[in-house]
Amino acid sequence: MFKKILCILMAAVLVLSFAACKDEISLQTGSSDDYSYDQGESSEPASTESEAPKNEVSSNSQTTSGDSKKCTNHNFVESEIITEPTTKIEGSKLLKCSKCGEEKTETIAKLVFKNNSIITENGVKKAVVKRINGSKINVNVVPNKVLFLGNSLLLGMSNYSYGMCATDAKNDYYYHVTQAILKKNPNCKFERAHIAHRFEAIENVKDFNENILNLPWKNNGEKSPALGDLFTKDLDLIIIQAGDNVNNAARKAAFTETCGKFVELIKEKCPKARIIWVYGWYQASTVEQTVIDTCAKWEMECISLASLHVPATEAKAGQPYETESGGNAIVNNDWITHPGNEGMKKVADAILNKINL
Ligand SMILES: [Zn+2]
Repeated sequence: MFKKILCILMAAVLVLSFAACKDEISLQTGSSDDYSYDQGESSEPASTESEAPKNEVSSNSQTTSGDSKKCTNHNFVESEIITEPTTKIEGSKLLKCSKCGEEKTETIAKLVFKNNSIITENGVKKAVVKRINGSKINVNVVPNKVLFLGNSLLLGMSNYSYGMCATDAKNDYYYHVTQAILKKNPNCKFERAHIAHRFEAIENVKDFNENILNLPWKNNGEKSPALGDLFTKDLDLIIIQAGDNVNNAARKAAFTETCGKFVELIKEKCPKARIIWVYGWYQASTVEQTVIDTCAKWEMECISLASLHVPATEAKAGQPYETESGGNAIVNNDWITHPGNEGMKKVADAILNKINL
């Protein structure tokens, strides 16, 4: 009689285990997440889904040793970010018990956009810089080495010599900002580079990975040095003036995906650089949310130029400009929606106000 009961019990256990195994198999082969895993994307959701039933089977049938049992005193550690938070929506993350593998999700609070990184330390103004590993350092607001990355407003005139549409190299925003910094630190060094073709014009993430993550970047005939060579460890201020050429759906989608990656790349290469993002002479509404979310995540500052762009600050039809050879020519009518000398001064003032020397 006892043997009979034991046999029935063992049979029941076998049937249950088999049924559980079948469930596991169908989960693994039928899951659409597994398909995306095969294509090399987001492997983690697929593996966690198939692991969950496995643990249940083990503890129910007790066919394996106790290491896969649920523990009574979980030690949850962060396993992965499921959704990144933005300034508009909460994110979520997956936590996993380091002892038994039990999983749970938790919400991540919305990002807070401060747009101010200035503190005073022993009477000296400093900017708080959040590094790629999340730690923070304080760098002097008066810089020693500055990199300007921008589009035509930085380097659009006279074969990439100065900003469009100033009348000459001593009237663009780069000139005004560098002159003000030199008054505080005559030894400060400056570099600038044109990134409209290489960053703003990117239409998919593959282009970004191939042309930007693989430094040094292609130069596309501009006079600027290869950008990979410009990302040096000693930079303590980087002004990124970009977003105006994000002017179609493909560029917008790519910008949304790559803006944060671009900042992370710079933070890896330039670990102590304070980064300020300037946008919106054109196309402010297209890029604003992405710029603000990126700045909130990295506690960076940003400047919208949208309110500065009015007819009075644009260049004037028929105005002269200095050519590369030092001669004079008349501006092309296609250029004059760019800032003229007055607009350039206002852009520079906005940047200097944010740098807060
Ligand atoms: Zn546990």
